[in-house]
Amino acid sequence: MIRLFAPDLPEEIARHLEEKQRIFDASGDYPFRVSDVQRVWKNKNRSNFRIVREKLAEMCPGPRRCHYCEDSCAIAIEHIKPKTLYPEAVFQWSNFLFVCQLCNGRENKGEKFAVFAGPRRIFKDVTRKRNAAILPPVAGMPVLLNPREEDPLNVLELRFPMCVFLPVEGLGRRDLKRAEYTIETLGLNDNLLPQARRGAYESYRALLIVYLKERDETPTQVQPNRYITALKRMHHPTVWAEMKRQHQRIQELQELRDLFARAPEALDW
Ligand SMILES: [Zn+2]
Repeated sequence: MIRLFAPDLPEEIARHLEEKQRIFDASGDYPFRVSDVQRVWKNKNRSNFRIVREKLAEMCPGPRRCHYCEDSCAIAIEHIKPKTLYPEAVFQWSNFLFVCQLCNGRENKGEKFAVFAGPRRIFKDVTRKRNAAILPPVAGMPVLLNPREEDPLNVLELRFPMCVFLPVEGLGRRDLKRAEYTIETLGLNDNLLPQARRGAYESYRALLIVYLKERDETPTQVQPNRYITALKRMHHPTVWAEMKRQHQRIQELQELRDLFARAPEALDW
């Protein structure tokens, strides 16, 4: 997961979302809105939401890769704050991400959410249990990392060579909990993701090697932009970000250290 920067929505689309939210907020009390939110979401305006999806796609790394796993194609609008817990955010642009089928599924995040509640900021899982009373979740600061608002790599790091996500060492209690909760809830180390990241690592490394060979053997012909463009089209940009961030301090990354020492310009790619 890397930091994402949202483009502005066209004004008429932003107004449309605000208006939809305002009307829905006034449509009934909290339990009613929870019961109605799936229907309202399903009936959203197709042409306006085509533009919303295009704007979300602009935020995607690589060839429209999922904002959470960076592995598969993003196809679904994800509500960071689940719409059945926070119907007041169902049409909120800042609550949207673009994710793949798997990350949008129930087994991963689904309708799960947690906050640090009360003056002592106690961890509280606010996911609604089956058959539980329909009450608003207790207020508090979200536990899940939000890549639209913060850099996830402040508290998460990829551990090489396995390419699993772990909390950054030395975090305080709350940041540690945020890192662990995010890894677990989004399934960042599940299934084949670490294996796919290791594949991405090899591809990034190979790209550096080919670039260096071309630069050193045919310096008049080398086109760095070709490599920069290729980089931007690859999956798992977090792997590249972490290769640049960690190459100097991780013993096992000696080869990478040598490559970046020969091509320091690649640290800006
Ligand atoms: Zn995904």
